[in-house]
Amino acid sequence: MDEDVEKLKQRLPLLDYLRQQHWTARPAGHGSEFVGLCPLHAETRPSFYVNASKNLFYCHGCGQGGDLLRFVQLSRHLSFRQSLAYLQQQSAPPTDPAAVLEQAATFYQQQFDRYPEALHYLKYRGLHDPASIQELRIGYAPGASLRRHLTAQGYSSDLLRRLGLLNLQGCDAFYRRVVFPCCQAGRIVNLYGRSIDAACAHRFLPGPRGGLYAWEQVRQCPEVILVEGLFDYAVLWQAGFHNVTCSLGTYLNPNQFRQLCDRGRTVFLTFDADANGSGQQASERLAHRLQAQGIATRRVLLPEGHDPNSFFVQGGDARQFQSLLEAAQP
Ligand SMILES: [Zn+2]
Repeated sequence: MDEDVEKLKQRLPLLDYLRQQHWTARPAGHGSEFVGLCPLHAETRPSFYVNASKNLFYCHGCGQGGDLLRFVQLSRHLSFRQSLAYLQQQSAPPTDPAAVLEQAATFYQQQFDRYPEALHYLKYRGLHDPASIQELRIGYAPGASLRRHLTAQGYSSDLLRRLGLLNLQGCDAFYRRVVFPCCQAGRIVNLYGRSIDAACAHRFLPGPRGGLYAWEQVRQCPEVILVEGLFDYAVLWQAGFHNVTCSLGTYLNPNQFRQLCDRGRTVFLTFDADANGSGQQASERLAHRLQAQGIATRRVLLPEGHDPNSFFVQGGDARQFQSLLEAAQP
């Protein structure tokens, strides 16, 4: 409770609240004091003082004084609890999911430089170019810090839980994960979190993942490279292949399939060359489905056991990958 009150008072300073309520005041002397007519009793000469740095008021006319909560209690005739609820509602930020995810993504991006393990992990996955990392808005979720950050901005734990940013226990859902925002039409619709500890699987937030990754940037390209994983995407982007998109798995949802077919183009299918052939089978099936829609396809054959990410991690370069594209089978 005390913590809630402190956060609220930081978010909504007394002077701001009074001005929202159309209180007019002039500076009183020097410093951060203001004086105006008292909103709590009838008067003709200003005797209501607000100290903006202490966030307190005092009226020399009626003798009332205190903080924001006290002011709301007196002016609206509410109990302490009712005043708190009223102010929380007044100061609540918009609850548009995209806006919350945007805040979360920005926060994770800000954490990236503060935790060396994040960059260390990206380097291990072949990503080292700071400009690419920034362009892709890659962030880091250290865990146990997003909740504090977003609730201090007034987002309710309940909303954060609904969006999957917090787990059912109310703790950060992403813990020691590198985070990629997934956008659709310029708005973040989901976050992908890759654990930097080998034991944990990657995960998304619940809810839609949008269409093909970064589709807006490539939809005009006559040739598009399609990969299955975001780290494949990221190393290709870093290597200068900007006509790349990602299906976040080998199975394309109907929306993603429609996107690939929305105009004539050539799709370079660049799925993993798994030893058991599952990536190649998926790529063959998809090639047939696309061809049936009039889309030209080329299947890029990576060395066995490789995906585009490991190809670059193990020393492959842009020129060599270009040769693979040129050798791709119709
Ligand atoms: Zn007064």
